[in-house]
Amino acid sequence: MRPPKHIRVGYRNWRIKCAELRDRYGECDKEAGLILYSPGQSPDVRLNTIIHEILHACFESGHVVDSDDEEKTVTILANQLSDVLSSNPDLLQWINVMVNGPYFDGSPREGPVQSRKL
Ligand SMILES: [Zn+2]
Repeated sequence: MRPPKHIRVGYRNWRIKCAELRDRYGECDKEAGLILYSPGQSPDVRLNTIIHEILHACFESGHVVDSDDEEKTVTILANQLSDVLSSNPDLLQWINVMVNGPYFDGSPREGPVQSRKL
């Protein structure tokens, strides 16, 4: 199954596209709002690649400027999140119900979601 062609991250829409990439599984073009993944990846690797690139988009959306640590942080979070989602299909099903259920009307949100302070 292919990933969706468009996703919303924060305040903008991003395209997801399969493309030949040299020496890379994926790429996040922050200026173009484009997430690329290379063909031929197994489903589990492709999941990790897409999550990895979405997290780069989240960094851009969240205006995180800690670029020196971005690659390391994104890699750690993508690996962990891919594992959690792959290991817990009930969790993924619950998330799907939550985002498609009566709690959200499906319309794009205006502006970034306010994050809770811990
Ligand atoms: Zn990366």
